[in-house]
Amino acid sequence: MACEKIRENIEQVKQNMREACARAGRKEDDVTLIAVSKTKPLSMVEEAISCGQMDFGENKVQEILEKQPVHPDRRWHMIGHLQRNKVKQVIDKVELIHSVDSVRLAEQIEEEAKKRGIEVKILLEVNVAREESKFGFFLEELMDAVETIAKLPHVHIQGLMTIAPFVENPEENRLVFRKLREVCIDIQQKNIDNVTMSVLSMGMTGDYQVAIEEGSTMIRVGTGIFGTR
Ligand SMILES: *Cc1c(COP(=O)(O)O)cnc(C)c1O
Repeated sequence: MACEKIRENIEQVKQNMREACARAGRKEDDVTLIAVSKTKPLSMVEEAISCGQMDFGENKVQEILEKQPVHPDRRWHMIGHLQRNKVKQVIDKVELIHSVDSVRLAEQIEEEAKKRGIEVKILLEVNVAREESKFGFFLEELMDAVETIAKLPHVHIQGLMTIAPFVENPEENRLVFRKLREVCIDIQQKNIDNVTMSVLSMGMTGDYQVAIEEGSTMIRVGTGIFGTR
């Protein structure tokens, strides 16, 4: 994809974000755009950087290891399933791990973070629609997981993430997003030590406008910025 196209796409996504915020009576600063650069070359990341893009999402450890050291001044987000044996390679390179989908993974992050004397921010991934093909906690498992993970001193839960089902019409995902926001509020109201619920990572190219209307604070947009993969 030509460079000008990436610039145009980012402008378009930002315009759509502003409009969705306006419709929902929200401030546009409350929503962060994460440019999902998985499978895309550094040259495309750099074009987005030249447009002022700060936040990038990757779903493979290997790609974070390739791209982050070249641009350590950007914020790199791990959004894909993370294997426990790869935790130590990425925890000091990412701003936020969106895809914590088991207590065991959180415990592994704790162990490696403690060794290094760092603190790691995470989101818990929730499989709201109970899709077999997806990772994440089921809603009924979530509260126990939050309470267990909250006790890990080097791991800080900042909120929730979901990957909504693939649908033709984004309206079909509205209730998924609404549900995640409700659960987020429920957890917040429990006032658990070491748990904040300030981040709701939901919405991708096909459905980010609906996600923003339902309270998303981080949208993860790949195709809509960098083109098809
Ligand atoms: C690939 C990916 C995205 C971006 O998907 P698009 O539909 O290309 O915007 C968002 N979130 C996760 C977890 C992904 O793996």
